[in-house]
Amino acid sequence: MKKIVRIFSPYRLIGQVLVNGTRNRNMISCKQASRLASEQLERNLSLWERAQFRLHLAMCGGCRQLEKQFLFLRKSTNAWMNQKY
Ligand SMILES: [Zn+2]
Repeated sequence: MKKIVRIFSPYRLIGQVLVNGTRNRNMISCKQASRLASEQLERNLSLWERAQFRLHLAMCGGCRQLEKQFLFLRKSTNAWMNQKY
């Protein structure tokens, strides 16, 4: 049990991404990040996908902006779909 917790600890996971990220091995690209930004509106991302996506957003202003636009798009589309005539 202790071993499982150690392996699946999100902190360990994020730490690994940070360490490997400096060598750009596990860092996702903007293309992958934008795919996750749209997919998160349609399905629940896995813990690993979320961690990678959040990490990318922390370092990339362009993708932060893109995610905002996706969220705005969904909000305004929903409002338009639900409006009563
Ligand atoms: Zn990016």
